[in-house]
Amino acid sequence: MDGKIVTIPGDGIGPEIVREACKVLDKIGKVYRHSFQYTPVLMGGCSIDEYGVPLTDEALETARKSDAVLLGAVGGDVGNSRWYDVAPDLRPEAGLLAIRKGLNLFANIRPAYLYGELADACPLKKEITGSGFDLVIMRELTGGLYFGERHTREVNGVMEATDTLTYNENEIRRIAVKAFSIAMKRRKQVVSVDKANVLDSSRLWRKVVEEVAKDYPEVELRHMLVDNCAMQLVMNPGQFDVVLTENMFGDILSDEASMITGSIGMLSSASLNETKFGLYEPSHGSAPDIAGKDIANPIATILSAAMMLRYSFDLDKEANAVEAAVQKVLTDGFRTADIMTAGGRQVGTSEMGDLIAENIK
Ligand code: NAD
Repeated sequence: MDGKIVTIPGDGIGPEIVREACKVLDKIGKVYRHSFQYTPVLMGGCSIDEYGVPLTDEALETARKSDAVLLGAVGGDVGNSRWYDVAPDLRPEAGLLAIRKGLNLFANIRPAYLYGELADACPLKKEITGSGFDLVIMRELTGGLYFGERHTREVNGVMEATDTLTYNENEIRRIAVKAFSIAMKRRKQVVSVDKANVLDSSRLWRKVVEEVAKDYPEVELRHMLVDNCAMQLVMNPGQFDVVLTENMFGDILSDEASMITGSIGMLSSASLNETKFGLYEPSHGSAPDIAGKDIANPIATILSAAMMLRYSFDLDKEANAVEAAVQKVLTDGFRTADIMTAGGRQVGTSEMGDLIAENIK
């Protein structure tokens, strides 16, 4: 297979961690006989320095023509960088919004996986985490409350603000189809999260999700109210496989789910459109405080590359090989500084990438 990948190293630790992910992809290419071609483009602060804008039309067009995008992170030290002395739509992070919109990335997937070796970083009690958890939050990214009509006005001398939450059945259907198809590659369970006891949009959500479920008879569907889901995530996270939800609920629940793993440097993510195309990036930011020191943890980006193999290239075996290599390196005791534990062997960014690549079987 030939894969055309646009890389967006971005700012801060971005170039260091993307380099390690490409190292691992190259090893996959060698072992499993695939070829990956990388086209680097600028986005964020480095694009502002070069072109005066966080994302050029050319960069977006190059991304659009690729099979998948691998992104490091963008942004600088917010309180202390010239990139922030301008209007919000010219700041580094505006590039992120522009690329998500420009590529119609409506489905965001964030896995939350607890490695046994890192269980001490998990803030939950051991009797709750039991044998660990392995779930993904599938969040709708382009509709709902964050994109609805809004206004603030004065009514009879009193200030009043309004936000509206709208979903149409097509928007719900396409994200539900993504969630069920991803469940088919996992443990075949979907929990659809809504607030159907109160909201009309949630009642439509539930109806459409049930219609989509009929096309996936092997997948078990449960509905859960969002307030209950927030509690269940900290009481019994092991019960979840794929959690499907709308934009704002997903924003909150995906942060909650990532916190219970305890390790920001380990969290991958993917944003997908209606085709196989996707943008893959770690959940963390550009960490300007540690940039250029060879101490950043590249694992979140390497695991994002594994998601790329699985979801954009349908290379499940190869994705499993990357995840197994990460697991092996952790079992062997290697740690970057952020996940260092007693008795572990501390390594830098580049050595961690080397070790994971060496363990690709
Ligand atoms: P951050 O995630 O960059 O850093 C938070 C803390 O976690 C820091 O102490 C950092 O050193 C540490 N950290 C993050 N990733 C790490 C890794 N891989 N290995 C080891 N330690 C790691 O969040 P922040 O400090 O709030 O933001 C820094 C910049 O990143 C800002 O400009 C922000 O806007 C931007 N940002 C970008 C994205 C993105 O590109 N998707 C996301 C979030 C924040």
